[in-house]
Amino acid sequence: MTPQDLNKPIHVLKFGGTSVATPELIRNAAQRIARRRDSGVHVVCVVSAMGDTTDRLLSLAREISTRPPSRELDVLLSAGEVQSMALLSMALNELGIAARSYTGQQGGIRTDAQHSEAKILSIDPDRVLEALNRDEVVVLAGFQGHDDRDEITTLGRGGSDTSAVAMAAALEAERCEILTDVSGVFTADPRIVEGARQISALGYDEMLEMANLGAKVLHGRSVELARRFEVSLIVASATADTAGTRISRKDDSMEKVEVRAVTDDRNVKKISLLSVPDTPGVAARIFGSLGEFGVNVRLIVQAQSHAGHNDITFVVPGDTPLDDKRLEQLVTEVGGENWIIDDRIALLNIIGEGISRAPGIAGTIFKILADQKINLDLISSSNLVITCVVPEGDLVRGTRALHEGLIETDA
Ligand code: ASP
Ligand code: MG
Repeated sequence: MTPQDLNKPIHVLKFGGTSVATPELIRNAAQRIARRRDSGVHVVCVVSAMGDTTDRLLSLAREISTRPPSRELDVLLSAGEVQSMALLSMALNELGIAARSYTGQQGGIRTDAQHSEAKILSIDPDRVLEALNRDEVVVLAGFQGHDDRDEITTLGRGGSDTSAVAMAAALEAERCEILTDVSGVFTADPRIVEGARQISALGYDEMLEMANLGAKVLHGRSVELARRFEVSLIVASATADTAGTRISRKDDSMEKVEVRAVTDDRNVKKISLLSVPDTPGVAARIFGSLGEFGVNVRLIVQAQSHAGHNDITFVVPGDTPLDDKRLEQLVTEVGGENWIIDDRIALLNIIGEGISRAPGIAGTIFKILADQKINLDLISSSNLVITCVVPEGDLVRGTRALHEGLIETDA
């Protein structure tokens, strides 16, 4: 069967953990699904684990074992989504709607074998299509799949978004809605910036930068997939019936702005390798080794060489397992002198497609931060983003000032 064999378009609705955290919320979700179905479309829902279930399962595992086998950890964590899918399907049946729940494997989600960070390799949506053809609602467990040997895998924290977008791509769905506890994507974190406002539409590239740079609203990999398969993505509230934020290929109907959003990310640390030899191949060895450790490097700066030596500084996610021991190994390996780990820094990111088109923007940004007496530790810029590394204590003030100066005045 193919999606074209169906008589109605498909909508994929993803419910995040907070939107299915209680029986009451699960019943609400079921009603929303029922309304959508009544509007004449097929519905596939993808669910996360209820509330903080995944965290609770993780701490249970830690009580039993300091190093649980990764296979067993995935079996355990996958149970969170299995619980919600069964309950949501029951709630739908309770409303008189034919619905059935499917695990990742039953939904045909095949991944590689990398437990806890598995990547989706392919989706065989046959069973899902057959269910839709019988006019049933499909409830699919997010965050999980199975590898070639039928082992259960999980896709990494927050991975249900990626399950939803991948399924939407495989089903050629008309849209994929990520329904959550916020009403859409904002110009800054509304918990920090009072004047933050909801963005009505933005392009995949801008959203990808935002997701990777501290906006917690979407799993970065889900945006990458949406861009690749041109899935029309919507982020909206799970409880209110409001329009949300539409993410699609940039088109002319979108607002023309220079700066789309300011994101803040304190969950990072800065590592400097001091006085490493200034010879070809050193950086290749350093970042080659980091790649082998699975370290995801955000920003790299090599300072001006002095007396045949360089300092190389980079920023990594705060939970990266790079400790003094690993760094000592790394520095010794390349003939460097010393290293520094600093986790009291944070990233301020100014994101927007107009950044590359607006010559004065960097100056404006630095002036705003200077007026706040915020010292810039590192700066990096690309087509879509200017990132400033600042002391963690200045993060909130800097975010507010930049938002006020670059976005609120632009209204
Ligand atoms: N339940 C998983 C987590 O908490 C996946 C998800 O919510 O997307 O990370
Ligand atoms: Mg989540």
